[in-house]
Amino acid sequence: MYDLIILGGGPAGAAGAVYAARKQLKTAIIAYEFAGQSVVSETIYNWIGTKEISGGDLAQNLKDHIFYYKGPFLDIFEGEKIKDIEKIDNHFKVITENNKTYEGKSILIATGSGRRKLEAINADKFEHKGITYCASCDGPMFADMDVLVIGGGNAAFETALQLLAYCKSVILIHRSENFRADEITVEKTKNNPKFKAITNAEVIRIDGDNFANSLTYKDKITGETITIPTSGIFVEIGQIPNTSFAKNVVSLDEIGKIKVDPINQAGETEGIWAAGDCSNGRYHQNNIAVGDAVKAIEDIYIWLHKNK
Ligand SMILES: Cc1cc2nc3c(=O)[nH]c(=O)nc-3n(C[C@H](O)[C@H](O)[C@H](O)COP(=O)(O)OP(=O)(O)OC[C@H]3O[C@@H](n4cnc5c(N)ncnc54)[C@H](O)[C@@H]3O)c2cc1C
Repeated sequence: MYDLIILGGGPAGAAGAVYAARKQLKTAIIAYEFAGQSVVSETIYNWIGTKEISGGDLAQNLKDHIFYYKGPFLDIFEGEKIKDIEKIDNHFKVITENNKTYEGKSILIATGSGRRKLEAINADKFEHKGITYCASCDGPMFADMDVLVIGGGNAAFETALQLLAYCKSVILIHRSENFRADEITVEKTKNNPKFKAITNAEVIRIDGDNFANSLTYKDKITGETITIPTSGIFVEIGQIPNTSFAKNVVSLDEIGKIKVDPINQAGETEGIWAAGDCSNGRYHQNNIAVGDAVKAIEDIYIWLHKNK
């Protein structure tokens, strides 16, 4: 029986593991992979204390920090996907897709979030055939081509910036008037002569043969329907929390984020805490995920000692 089971190996999971091991809580950390979402970022400029770091190096540093504490107080399970959590009397059973089980007195859920899929006619049909959700993975295949990016937040603008380095042109398509991305990133992108933004655009359909070759959108102001030829479509329209396995043990909000008390990251079920992008805090960043988890571990430590 563990004192604590941490689910997830991104920034929140890593912070949780380091703090829990240092407090000598008998801890297990279970993650599908030890890398956060920003692993695909070329450069991260706001990881506090480090002026610039690639997403890959940040993920490796976090993983190294976790593995440094592997030992009597920390067991590490990599490659396991959580399927379910059951509450049994005064503890919890975590079940993975390989039907492995782990029992713990408390749980810190730090499973982050994944990509929201484009809802448009033929979007499914052309996924991986001209529609992609990862510029770092697939972008270079579109070198010297005209491509589209869908979205208006930081991820969309970062994707556009990456693509501008080697694509012929990048058009960003956004459903609203205003962008959610940081002003500095928007300005940097807009200054590139190969870039253009189309706002108030509702994507309706994707067409093509074997690969997508055009996107049709409706101009929400004029009502006009416009088709743009393209070689590639990069979708960056937001995140969906990885929490379906937790729905029977803890309250989720309307989009599936775990409801937490912002004072201590406690969920609405005693013994469960959540940190980072899977929780319903208002803002999601690497530094916030780490801070959430630290707050949670401080609280879990007190809770475990009260319940001894
Ligand atoms: C392209 C991109 C660029 C970004 N750039 C920045 C940036 O420059 N600066 C910044 O501060 N933030 C940035 N962010 C946001 C930042 O990456 C997230 O806020 C942060 O990763 C959240 O950390 P997390 O630990 O909560 O979750 P995640 O990073 O999502 O980690 C989730 C972990 O849980 C694991 N997991 C998920 N589901 C399961 C399951 N069922 N079973 C087992 N394990 C599971 C995953 O394998 C992973 O280890 C960026 C995000 C993206 C997508």
